[in-house]
Amino acid sequence: MKGRVNSFQSLGAVDGPGIRCVVFMQGCPLRCHYCHNPETWEIGQGESWFSVEEMIQKISRFESYIREGGGVTLSGGEPLLQWEFAAELFSRLQKLGIHTALDTSGHGSLLGAEAVLKNTDLVLCDLKFSTEEQYEQYSGGSLNKVKEFLELTEKGRVPLWIRHVVVPGLNDEEEDIQAIGKIAQSYSNLEKLELLPFHKICLEKYEGLGLDFPLLHHPECSPEKIRILKKFCENNIDIPNCIR
Ligand code: SF4
Repeated sequence: MKGRVNSFQSLGAVDGPGIRCVVFMQGCPLRCHYCHNPETWEIGQGESWFSVEEMIQKISRFESYIREGGGVTLSGGEPLLQWEFAAELFSRLQKLGIHTALDTSGHGSLLGAEAVLKNTDLVLCDLKFSTEEQYEQYSGGSLNKVKEFLELTEKGRVPLWIRHVVVPGLNDEEEDIQAIGKIAQSYSNLEKLELLPFHKICLEKYEGLGLDFPLLHHPECSPEKIRILKKFCENNIDIPNCIR
């Protein structure tokens, strides 16, 4: 079993708890307007092939760091596109006592997702938009599909962190945050709601790939805006202790 891997981050600190090895898988069916990793989109571009065994060996070099409250996060791209690889890697890691987190948009085969979730300790899922229309317009995917995936995580009692990238002018109004919060709190396995600011640090990547960045003229999201929206969540959304 081999997986197409775009890149590997040895000491990640933002994709799950603690210090983590983050594996960015190649290939994604979505095209989010704010995507920071366009280099992962196309299968067959810029990737390396790794067997599960090779990946375990690579990860084991950082074992002393990631065992202390951290672990391994599979991200991308969309890791569920290579669910067989993800399922086998997570199964091996759990047997080694290493925490496993799946950073996903929820777009992939549900049967495949079910197999991966059996050995997943935490799911990180970006909800992106609160309506089907907006989701399709700005990411090319389906919110209903994400909800089906999230139901699976609830059924499997896999702890869930919902993330939301706040993009000024697209999804940063209080009603947007309230609607996202309402969807998030409908899952009993929810542990955390993270609001992440939209930045444009990915511009060079788009230029390098010869791609237009759809949000080139959008302002970045300020720390002050995030602070205000977090306060709004604390006061208006019934998700105890989980706003970050
Ligand atoms: S799902 Fe993630 S990797 Fe795929 S386009 Fe959206 S932000 Fe980029």
